[in-house]
Amino acid sequence: RLIVFEGVEGSGKTTQMLRSQAWLLENQCFQSLKEDLAPPILVTREPGGTELGLELRQLLLGYQGQEAIQNRAELLLYAADRAQHVDGYLKPQLARGAVILCDRYTDSTIAYQGYGRGLDLALIDQLNQAATGGLESDLTLWLDVDAELGLARMRQRGKADRIEQADLAFHQRVQQGFQALHQQYPERIVRIDASQSEQRVAHQIQQVLSQRLTQ
Ligand code: C5P
Ligand code: MG
Repeated sequence: RLIVFEGVEGSGKTTQMLRSQAWLLENQCFQSLKEDLAPPILVTREPGGTELGLELRQLLLGYQGQEAIQNRAELLLYAADRAQHVDGYLKPQLARGAVILCDRYTDSTIAYQGYGRGLDLALIDQLNQAATGGLESDLTLWLDVDAELGLARMRQRGKADRIEQADLAFHQRVQQGFQALHQQYPERIVRIDASQSEQRVAHQIQQVLSQRLTQ
């Protein structure tokens, strides 16, 4: 199964994904997924879930060139990262029965490059389709916080440097993107109120996971 964590910066995706992994590894009910063999519980992320992807991530987040990365070029770099991740990691691991927790996936592209940067949503859908070969998440946990709160958390963690210059309006559009996606796919995308404490968010995620994974 593929379980994706989505949300704006500072929504707690990485933290909650790692907590969920630890919880799933401890939790007995998932032994029942396979009678006698517990499935591997893996964590990964986009961009950067593969060796090639890590280089693309460094390019995307640390690019030092004189010219700006054009929006369409950025979109294609994210797509390349995803294609490598899907074919080189996600599909083979899913085929051996792994439960994979993934920090960002196709919805981030729609929210950031579509709603945030204003690229054509139909083009993004086509690219997502091409990059994933049709591999969709079984469950997407949308960690919903206001862009303001998310950015404030990033600042607290001293991680705001890479996004300092990006304006709040951009992150608000991204947030609206996640909202729209949640309305469009209410079954696949479960909203978690991520303005709550880390503990409470973790607890709600555990409830959703135990429900969905034992179905
Ligand atoms: O939070 P994370 O470690 O996933 O950071 C990835 C960075 O890449 C974030 O700053 C996010 O704004 C950006 N990103 C993006 N478009 C995507 C995915 C991530 O701009 N599709
Ligand atoms: Mg993170």
